[in-house]
Amino acid sequence: MSKDYYKILEVEKTASQEEIKKAFRKQAHKYHPDKKDGDEVKFKEANEAYQILSDEKKRAQYDQFGSTGSNPFGGTGSQNGFGGFDFSGFQNGQGFDFGDIDLGDLFGGGFGGRRSRRRKGNDMQMRIEIDFIDSVFGVTKTINVDHPKTCSDCSGTGAEDTSNFDTCPECNGQGKVQTQMMGIFATVTECPTCNGQGKVPKNKCKKCKGAGVTKEKDTIEFKIPAGIKHGDTLRITGRGEAIKNGPSGDLFIQVLVRSHEVFKRNGFDLITEHEIPMSDAVLGAKHSIELLDKTKLDIKIPAGTKHGTVLRVSGRGIQSDRMKGNLLINVKIKIPKKLSKKAKEAMEVLQSEGY
Ligand SMILES: [Zn+2]
Ligand SMILES: [Zn+2]
Repeated sequence: MSKDYYKILEVEKTASQEEIKKAFRKQAHKYHPDKKDGDEVKFKEANEAYQILSDEKKRAQYDQFGSTGSNPFGGTGSQNGFGGFDFSGFQNGQGFDFGDIDLGDLFGGGFGGRRSRRRKGNDMQMRIEIDFIDSVFGVTKTINVDHPKTCSDCSGTGAEDTSNFDTCPECNGQGKVQTQMMGIFATVTECPTCNGQGKVPKNKCKKCKGAGVTKEKDTIEFKIPAGIKHGDTLRITGRGEAIKNGPSGDLFIQVLVRSHEVFKRNGFDLITEHEIPMSDAVLGAKHSIELLDKTKLDIKIPAGTKHGTVLRVSGRGIQSDRMKGNLLINVKIKIPKKLSKKAKEAMEVLQSEGY
């Protein structure tokens, strides 16, 4: 059976996270090994207890099984941690060299994650819908997001005066604390009080009350590049959720493109339809079509154009910074339902001649 973490921190089994944190700070202060009357063993014990109890998942496991159930040896292991084994020889990692092995992996990700992975704010995802024409030519958009933003007053440090810091009392300026896993392995984790900074603000920032982040609405302006496809995702680095003393996450924006009445796309080709009178199809003609940006483009209908012929205008399709498509014009021939008397006579001549 593992140690009684509640007893170590001197808190009730029902203690809130706030109480646990407070209790841990008190103990860390009292027993810090760098202090004259510190106690390394007790300091480590408190740390160990805090690592488990401050994590609701590990705490629940601990409450249920008396340990967090992780077995570094990957065996089926009993849920009671290490059963009757005597691992005392491995205390503090002595006689057991983990070298550069990431304990996070060794423990199935349950532990040590913070040791190897840099703290970073959460990434955010959202969607935006744009017009077809904007997807072709590119557009600048502005969106409002409601998520933790780096405090503008303290630049995310949580300090009222960003040049006025105290040495962190918990890690004594080291930025790291040593943690024991179930009293067996010693690992080094980032100090939870100063987030690895080794220092804490003398006075807390008034705007964010020391949190380093605020929940202000954030207005983000970003460019959607020309040629973006329906479903493409843009990544806006550093505009996800902010955290104190660490980089913000990224914002991922999926772009949905509304369809257009006249134009469609296939890859980087723009596709449109154009209707012509049957006489133009037979004799050939000059036509003008309206492009997406409302400009006109003159095209030549060759004599003998069939219904469904695709005319290709090179380089007039969708253009990105790397690609340039073509404009494909699908020609439709109008068949008149009503003819003038003169036209009917002409048609009858054509018909008699086998056209
Ligand atoms: Zn602030
Ligand atoms: Zn610290």
